[in-house]
Amino acid sequence: MYCGHQGGPREDTPATMADVLKAHIEVCPEHPLSHAKAEIERLEAIVDKLPKCWRLVENGKLVRDVPAVPGMDAWHREPDTETLMRFGPLAWRVRGIEREWLRVGRVDGLGADRLLPVIDFYDTKEAAEAARGK
Ligand SMILES: [Zn+2]
Repeated sequence: MYCGHQGGPREDTPATMADVLKAHIEVCPEHPLSHAKAEIERLEAIVDKLPKCWRLVENGKLVRDVPAVPGMDAWHREPDTETLMRFGPLAWRVRGIEREWLRVGRVDGLGADRLLPVIDFYDTKEAAEAARGK
């Protein structure tokens, strides 16, 4: 086996070799799956700490669980005017995160950066539109 364990079905288990291997890989700390699981846990802890944007789910509901990251594509809704603004590779870019604020700036570097509340960001135009008037 990959990790050096001696594999093989025991006489008291009717499992196939594939099942034995699968069960072993699930629990063996030396197998890459364990490293991958630990890495997923570590990354999930990081993602949990990031402020979240909104996304649209079935039945038109909005849930706030999209982690905000620099460089992300997102839609911003101006709360007062309901204007939608796309942040993406063409005009504006999310440059950084400052607590519950996104620092955004133009891709061409013109003009000053703006700080906008994360809570006014949506992962798609449809999600931003769904939030209109709410
Ligand atoms: Zn192993």
